[in-house]
Amino acid sequence: MKRTGFKRKITSKPLKTTKLAKVGKQPISKIQKVLWVECRRVANILYPPVNGITYCYTCSSPVEGRNKHLGHFLARTVCGAFLKYDMRNLRWQCISCNIHSGGNSAVFYKLLAEKEGQKYVDKLFEDKKKTIKAYDHYVQLLEEYKKITLAI
Ligand SMILES: [Zn+2]
Repeated sequence: MKRTGFKRKITSKPLKTTKLAKVGKQPISKIQKVLWVECRRVANILYPPVNGITYCYTCSSPVEGRNKHLGHFLARTVCGAFLKYDMRNLRWQCISCNIHSGGNSAVFYKLLAEKEGQKYVDKLFEDKKKTIKAYDHYVQLLEEYKKITLAI
């Protein structure tokens, strides 16, 4: 196909405005990627290893390396933006519980209620209904988490 001056004109205009609009604003996918790294760092602080070993929250098997997953109590596909990167909703899990058992949610529920109290669990279910502006919330969380991880 032959490129025409007409086509170039059409593509160059919106490109300029997109570039301008993105200055100072990272794409949400990038924020989410960075935020997830921070979540894992914060999780190491909030849910630290015991005698050097991190255990799966739901089956108590030791986890490390690729087997060390940060799993969601309320699944990230359904929990909404508010809880997706909320540390209350996250615990270390093994790949078997997190992936193969779909989060092992029944056991997750039981243990959370036992260890943190029923109110804690109920609050998570309440917060699941919250609708927020994802982007702004993620930026705010990222700041909060960085404060925690940088302080260590
Ligand atoms: Zn497990």
